[in-house]
Amino acid sequence: MCIFVIPKSTQLSIAGNILLLRKNIPANVTMVTVSKMQPVPAMLEAYQAGQKIFGENKVQELAAKQLQIPGDVEWHFIGHLQTNKVKYIASFISLIHSIDSINLLKEVNKEAAKNKRTIDCLLQFHIATEETKFGLDIAEAMKLLESDSYKALENTRITGVMGMSSFSDDTALVRREFRSLHAYYLTLKNNYFSHQDSFNVVSMGMSGDYIIAIEEGSTMVRIGTSIFGERHH
Ligand SMILES: *Cc1c(COP(=O)(O)O)cnc(C)c1O
Repeated sequence: MCIFVIPKSTQLSIAGNILLLRKNIPANVTMVTVSKMQPVPAMLEAYQAGQKIFGENKVQELAAKQLQIPGDVEWHFIGHLQTNKVKYIASFISLIHSIDSINLLKEVNKEAAKNKRTIDCLLQFHIATEETKFGLDIAEAMKLLESDSYKALENTRITGVMGMSSFSDDTALVRREFRSLHAYYLTLKNNYFSHQDSFNVVSMGMSGDYIIAIEEGSTMVRIGTSIFGERHH
């Protein structure tokens, strides 16, 4: 019998992990560095290795880290966002991946206006079989986009869709879920955004499933563990 053990010395550094990921990820797919629960020094290592887009899923953590990382970084919010917390990130956030209601979008618009900005947003879809994940279905998304309250918004711009697959080893299931998200993207593009070039983001794929996601049309992957290793709880 033969047991394979990877010696510590051959485990890759953060920079090494990033290099490896860049080889696997086509140039037209954006890689978001998911730094939630990772310390600032590890984030600075990723920054030094060229990563300029960071994703966080907690408002407080994001607001604190934003002060400690160089200013040319783009910040993405990727977690469930409560309306009462939008004001803490509205002055600097580049993309909110997790719009799942018109109320949240209206709040983002209000805070964006206060900051004299336009904030880019993705509509989050519920594509997983698990009950716990947030997001819209296609009928809800269409209702949102056809509502008068949506049409009145001037400080937000919808630039695409986002979704999370089931946490599952069943790659056929994961593939079907990504395929359905890509189909929703095309439906919305054809019906509402055919004249808006900036509607071009399909945010899907994480460390465990980004290769399938890219095969199914992802334009933006969100990678944490494969860059930093396990998160620090
Ligand atoms: C944590 C998280 C990721 C990254 O997951 P990894 O498996 O660590 O790559 C991506 N997207 C969202 C929404 C997350 O919460």
